[in-house]
Amino acid sequence: MTKYIFVTGGVTSSLGKGIIAASLAKLLQARGFRTTIQKFDPYINVDPGTLNPYEHGECYVTEDGAETDLDLGHYERFLNTYTSQANNVTTGRIYQYVINKEREGAYLGKTVQVIPHITDEIKRRMTLLGQNHQYDIVITELGGTVGDIESLPYIEAVRQLKWEMGDENCIVIHLTLIPYLRAAKELKTKPTQHSVKMMSENGLNPDVLVCRTEEPLYKELKRKIALFCNVTQDAVIEALDADTIYGVPLEMMREKLDVICLEKLGLPKGTEPELNKWKEFLNKLRYPKSKVTIGLIGKYVELQDAYKSILEAFIHAGAMNECKVEVKNIHSEYLTTDNAAEKMENLDAVLVAPGFGSRGIEGKIDAIRYARENKIPFFGICLGMQMACVEFARNVLGMTKAHSTEMSSDTDEAVIAMMEDQKKITQMGGTMRLGSYDCELRTDSRTASIYGSTHISERHRHRYEFNNEYFDAYEKAGMIPVGKNTRTGLVEIVEIPDHPFFIGVQFHPEYKSTVENPHPLFTAFVKAAKEAQEQRNGRPKHPVYEQTVVEG
Ligand code: GLN
Repeated sequence: MTKYIFVTGGVTSSLGKGIIAASLAKLLQARGFRTTIQKFDPYINVDPGTLNPYEHGECYVTEDGAETDLDLGHYERFLNTYTSQANNVTTGRIYQYVINKEREGAYLGKTVQVIPHITDEIKRRMTLLGQNHQYDIVITELGGTVGDIESLPYIEAVRQLKWEMGDENCIVIHLTLIPYLRAAKELKTKPTQHSVKMMSENGLNPDVLVCRTEEPLYKELKRKIALFCNVTQDAVIEALDADTIYGVPLEMMREKLDVICLEKLGLPKGTEPELNKWKEFLNKLRYPKSKVTIGLIGKYVELQDAYKSILEAFIHAGAMNECKVEVKNIHSEYLTTDNAAEKMENLDAVLVAPGFGSRGIEGKIDAIRYARENKIPFFGICLGMQMACVEFARNVLGMTKAHSTEMSSDTDEAVIAMMEDQKKITQMGGTMRLGSYDCELRTDSRTASIYGSTHISERHRHRYEFNNEYFDAYEKAGMIPVGKNTRTGLVEIVEIPDHPFFIGVQFHPEYKSTVENPHPLFTAFVKAAKEAQEQRNGRPKHPVYEQTVVEG
């Protein structure tokens, strides 16, 4: 029978439930258990696809095209396995399903209520991935914090599941905070006691406590926490602040989080976790031999979570190159033709980020021009690729009005435009080109040699596309559409061969980068940044080939 582990959070948000859940899953996977993770979010949006990145950070896209919470990205990066639509459920989705069923008449005669109808549907979804014996262990992260009104149906659903399945098949890990009061030089357990009490008022007792702390928990304190929170003493786990999220699985192994969970679930310990590849990665990450500075140009740069997968992909690719990647955030709204040189002068490479809408768009175009003309390695993702095409059309093909119809709906030089089938769509949620699509690469392209293959498959999330009317014009002028979806004819990749590294991709390679499989495009891009730096060090600091800056 599949066993279930639920991860709840207490005291405050941002304690890193996703990382703890992913770390535990990693350890269980390394012990030979077939493990997956899912997340339940208590908000009313049906999925996070319609949320502004400022609200909720990046929207992560799975192979099957689900727009999901960014924690699913951590799950995939840690476990090196795919997640799907079923791995992320929101309150909105639950209610939508129940209300649709009510309209169909499925509950005829009955009053439809939070308990039992909503909680039953939560339980059904919580146990969905455990059916068909696909997994030994399903870990479920509950979004939000215990005590939130909106979390109540989830706590109740877990309480019922625990009662139905028994404590040996279903355990709860509560992640909590033990604050350190500097003035008193003391670690405080009271907030944890309160959050556990709040949970037990709802009938649910944690089996394991993972305590986030800045200072080590001494033995007597662990005993006190165990006593007042009613857990066994070995089930109080210390989670000290880590230098990198990728160090957390090893920390959790040292604290025996995996062993305690297995004991409580009545499972054998399996094999000793085999984490050699992981440790090798960590070593490279912690002891880099070089450093590059890469500019990340976007409009949400104030919020790190908005570009989570890109930042993580840089960490993976950096470790592959034994090179620290320092990401310099550059707000596209404040970048202009006049200050592009000043803002970008010390960069070893430039990544122009995905995005939506016209705010900051000219800054992105200016940055791309500077990178193209000054031979700075450039990588454009989704909107970044689209703007690379716009920049090239304007400044090389002489199409001064060139734009994407997203920003300029009536331009007659629409080098990026919406496909006919997208134009018919009126609803915003879940209607972009989403998920995995195949792409064929030109055999002589740089991209094909980077992938080591001419057939790839990558994940998408956009509405606009390269306009094939201009295909030949681009090719003749030196920006080559090298990747194509052969079924639809859509251009997925452009590159400029006469440049040290200039690649734009319509898809999101960052979603598929994991610790064990860093994405080849990111790895090659970091390598190109290293080479650019080496070259530059041997040359004057401003290798300007064609001055684009209007001095004023
Ligand atoms: N706004 C662009 C589109 O919808 C790009 C989207 C993105 O960068 N993810 O096509």
